[in-house]
Amino acid sequence: MIKPIKKEVGWCYVPVRIHCECGKSITYESASDTGWHIDTEGVAFGAYLCASCSERKRKEQMIHNLKDFMEARGFGEESFKDIEKNTYKHTDCGAWIQEKTEDRVDYESPHIEEFNDAPTYKHHTGLTVGSIVEGVDYDCDPVTVTYPFEMDEFWKAVKAVEDQANEIWKDTHGCDKCWKEPVPNQWGDVVEFGAWPINEECKTCKGEGTII
Ligand SMILES: [Zn+2]
Ligand SMILES: [Zn+2]
Repeated sequence: MIKPIKKEVGWCYVPVRIHCECGKSITYESASDTGWHIDTEGVAFGAYLCASCSERKRKEQMIHNLKDFMEARGFGEESFKDIEKNTYKHTDCGAWIQEKTEDRVDYESPHIEEFNDAPTYKHHTGLTVGSIVEGVDYDCDPVTVTYPFEMDEFWKAVKAVEDQANEIWKDTHGCDKCWKEPVPNQWGDVVEFGAWPINEECKTCKGEGTII
């Protein structure tokens, strides 16, 4: 909430104090410096959060497991299958996604005495995204985000994979008219039509390449 300290004519230019939900407040010399839209009743649209409250909120929004992840995405997904489908469908490169797990010993198991080796279970540690580019042997390096992570980190991982897939596509999907003779790709491999780079000036494919 926002409160003008003194109410004066043209109060947009009077000092204002904005309160965080925890009660801490910040004072601005002029209401117009707050960056918030303020109506004539002295109400700010847009919430002020003090540094410690915003840090707490950030932590609360961290993704700790698949359930948090599906909620944060807000796509109405109910299972990992849904996530896989959406990841494939909504990325240009048709990315794949996997749950990352590690084997942990189940010390709590009531059966622990019966086994020579203690029973283990799969502990979910995060998510990995990657992509294969059709028609070539070059794969994207998969990117893993480890719990707890911020949603933003996940979207950055998806972007990194998409960028890689795009690079690989450009370096390997030139059409048969892109070049007059074989040219090397970014890995220094010289290949004939079938996996050579796209020539952006090419009039035949218009720099878009072709499916191989
Ligand atoms: Zn606060
Ligand atoms: Zn071409």
